[in-house]
Amino acid sequence: MKIHDISMMIHKDMPVYNNIEDKRPRVEVVSTYETGSHYESRIRLDIHTGTHLDAPLHMVEGGDTIENIDLYKCITQCTVFDLTSVDLQITKADLEGLDIKEGQFVIFKTKTSFLTEFDFNFVFLEKSAAEYLRDKKIKGVGMDALGVERSQPGHETHKALLGSGIIVLEGLALKDIQPGEYTLIALPLKIQGAEGAPARAVLIEQ
Ligand SMILES: [Zn+2]
Repeated sequence: MKIHDISMMIHKDMPVYNNIEDKRPRVEVVSTYETGSHYESRIRLDIHTGTHLDAPLHMVEGGDTIENIDLYKCITQCTVFDLTSVDLQITKADLEGLDIKEGQFVIFKTKTSFLTEFDFNFVFLEKSAAEYLRDKKIKGVGMDALGVERSQPGHETHKALLGSGIIVLEGLALKDIQPGEYTLIALPLKIQGAEGAPARAVLIEQ
């Protein structure tokens, strides 16, 4: 068994969405061995920092919140697909040739996994692709970009997925991951009433 860590490192200079300064994680050290008898810190973190899950509430008014996410969808078999040749957006046409089945958790590796800085033109799941996955009744979708969607003012991709109970996992570090079958573990922090939560995500290779 081999464990692949596919989580982004959380630190103050990490890529954050649209490079918005206020989204940067801040770690405050409140006690050190110089100032006290132990080491202690606290962190201020945007919910959508690095590797994280979106809950339906993020894009669906009145939608479910992260503490109610079905954990059977977070610990599951999954398939990693190589879409590194795709530019700008993944469309239905890019997915039709893939063997995507009902109940599958799919992870798409794109060019984003090879970038060290936020890319304003990151590869995203265009709405025709999201609707295709919804109609296929997949269990979940994982992407390396910090969002599954950009440049769609109606947020059709998020709504198609989250509105159908499909898990949305964003900010995966897939640079060293080969396409294939794995066991995914991506457990969101249990934050009451939140529209998402950071997660530590790993792929287990049998
Ligand atoms: Zn998100």
